[in-house]
Amino acid sequence: MPFKAEYIWVDGTQPTAKLRSKTKVVEDGAELPIWGFDGSSTNQAPGDKSDCVLKPVFTCPDPIRGGKNVLVMCEVLLIDGTPHPTNTRAACAAVAEKFADQEPIFGIEQEYTFFKDGRPLGFPIGGGFPAPQGGYYCGVGSDEVFGRAIVEAHMDLCLEAGLHLSGINAEVMPGQWEFQVGPVAAPQVADELWIARWLLYRIAEDYNVSATLDPKPVKGDWNGAGAHTNFSTNAMRKSYDAIITAAESLGGEGKVEEHVAGYGADIEHRLTGMHETAPWSKYSYGVSDRGASVRIPWQVEKDGRGYLEDRRPNANCDPYVVTRLIVNTCCSALAA
Ligand code: ADP
Ligand code: MN
Ligand code: MN
Repeated sequence: MPFKAEYIWVDGTQPTAKLRSKTKVVEDGAELPIWGFDGSSTNQAPGDKSDCVLKPVFTCPDPIRGGKNVLVMCEVLLIDGTPHPTNTRAACAAVAEKFADQEPIFGIEQEYTFFKDGRPLGFPIGGGFPAPQGGYYCGVGSDEVFGRAIVEAHMDLCLEAGLHLSGINAEVMPGQWEFQVGPVAAPQVADELWIARWLLYRIAEDYNVSATLDPKPVKGDWNGAGAHTNFSTNAMRKSYDAIITAAESLGGEGKVEEHVAGYGADIEHRLTGMHETAPWSKYSYGVSDRGASVRIPWQVEKDGRGYLEDRRPNANCDPYVVTRLIVNTCCSALAA
């Protein structure tokens, strides 16, 4: 019996890339081949030079189809074998390789919002708004929690796929949830996050619900959606000085602009200084501070070692870009 390989890749949609996938039937026992697609349909090529190349980079069991079937995260190459301009993984892998001796690892908290019939799940069917935020975060009960069946199904799928899922929770706005992937090194943590996103969209299909990574799905007094990125190196896991060095480096000359520009489209709509955020243009770090750009968890200060949390990345960020920026900035400073 042949098996089914779902080839998944990141497209060229601007300003926020989307996932695409298609299925290849592969002979039993055969290696996963390089494949191709029509780049003119994904904002990745003009019609007269439309061929783009899919190169498998991370494979896991397909928990939806089961059996010997697999999910295959791919990077996109040009036909000459070099990285496509939309391929952000290649640069991430190069930086991770350069600083591999520092053993950087990441845990990413992916927030997202379920939508049905044009409004967040849990918002009144006739229009208008639910009760203000307060009781929804980590809530329980059908008046507070919307979409749990999908969240549970998604969690099981991620675990069956062997992804490093470390937890889930209901978030501050109704219909808003979070899952965490990690701690794992880059670029694998980003490969896993993209696959976890694909599984989320895919399983939500079965419930006629869509999941969105929109960083500010409802205007006004409603929390945005982020992708807090927890980061450590071997030195940070041993010394508090190293954590301070890393936190300082993220506020260095030119670094604030460089990072914020790579942390997801419309970041200025979310990082307003309200709703547990720091203003995007002003860098700060602090212990336990959910109003800072970077938080050092209280336990880390107490233990004198551990990790830091960059709270700025948007839910719609590209984790290949976010992890590349953080490794490059922090590991350069730690190596100095
Ligand atoms: P929060 O308190 O911000 O909600 P979470 O518990 O949701 O935090 O997420 C914390 C994340 O930090 C998890 O994904 C976890 O895997 C990750 N993490 C824990 N220790 C480390 C570490 N030493 N380096 C990097 N990430 C870590
Ligand atoms: Mn969290
Ligand atoms: Mn967090």
